[in-house]
Amino acid sequence: MAIISRRTCLSGLGVAAAALGAARAGRVRAAGVPAPEGALQAASQAPARLDITEFQPRSMLHVPATRVERARFPVIDVHTHLGFSGREGMSFAARPETLLPVMDRKNVRMMVNATGGSGRGLDESLERFDRRVPGRFVTFAEPRWEGFNQPGWGQRQAEELGRAREAGARGLKVLKTLGLGLRENGTTGALIKVDDPRLDPMWDACGALRMPVLIHVADPEAFFLPIDRFNERFEELNNHPDWSFHGADFPSFRELVDAFDRIVARHPKTQFIAAHFGLNAENLPSVSERMDRYANLHVDTAARIGELGRQPRFARRVFERHQDRILFGTDAVPDGHDTPQQVFGDDLYEIYFRCLETEDEYFDYAPAPVPPQGRWAIYGLGLPEGILRKVYHDNAARLLGL
Ligand SMILES: [Zn+2]
Repeated sequence: MAIISRRTCLSGLGVAAAALGAARAGRVRAAGVPAPEGALQAASQAPARLDITEFQPRSMLHVPATRVERARFPVIDVHTHLGFSGREGMSFAARPETLLPVMDRKNVRMMVNATGGSGRGLDESLERFDRRVPGRFVTFAEPRWEGFNQPGWGQRQAEELGRAREAGARGLKVLKTLGLGLRENGTTGALIKVDDPRLDPMWDACGALRMPVLIHVADPEAFFLPIDRFNERFEELNNHPDWSFHGADFPSFRELVDAFDRIVARHPKTQFIAAHFGLNAENLPSVSERMDRYANLHVDTAARIGELGRQPRFARRVFERHQDRILFGTDAVPDGHDTPQQVFGDDLYEIYFRCLETEDEYFDYAPAPVPPQGRWAIYGLGLPEGILRKVYHDNAARLLGL
């Protein structure tokens, strides 16, 4: 009996082996060689090669999936873009009426519109958001770079900030233009260094006026490397080649961050919020060490949930250590279709909340068919309530003087 069943079993294996051989033959056929009779249908349909842009694997993991529809505590999103200043003045991405229902559903009490502009543009921003819906929107001013190479720019900028503060602006936003775009004569000449001393009066004024500086210097480390098969953000850079800062006369990633650290050290009374988790979410040991060194250095989580969530254990330790200086931010842009990881809406907030609040494993960091910043998934940090309260709300409220 035992022998017969063993024989049956072996003959079964024989069938399986034949099928496997046929499947291999099927694969050969896909490469252009005729298949022998009986080749497996499914195998013959598999393409020999797959273009990576068409690859959209679905995870087969059976793991808990927690939907966090509302943040556990009220949220201040310290990094959003509701408008942009251009040559023709301000252009706005949304009206408060379209933002408020999402904010209410998600428990987002307040949004900081980082790119509020300067001068008249700043007034338009304040009018459109802060004054129309008090308590729900905060606007940051931006520097006016025109005439930077003329004497007295720093002093004029400091005075301008005083006026902005009076009008209602609560902070200053500096884009990565500083260090990577702004040149001695505007668009020509040498790049202005991040720690150029002509900027000092502006940083000092921010300290005196209690306006935190939300600043983005450099970009992901991979943007400073060649766009090749070793670059973990190849697809993203391939989609946006103009995001690359490799070559030309661009400074290295390290030079930019070091220059930023020098201004933080030089202006201890000014509170700096280094966007995108200290400008360097790929290197949390370094961010943590810099936060140890500078008491006036704060960081936000904007557009870096994909980085924090792929190193959840170390990230959690950084949140524990620096829980008073980490601020919740998303970099949300209403209708920002180019960058799925930044599209303002329910999906975006739910991903951030899930990552910070739960211990869920292996989920998408952006509402997109393919992870837009690199092909990986994220894990929840499972932060305790005390830290969540601070990161979601209290740290920002303190810095903004609310
Ligand atoms: Zn931003």
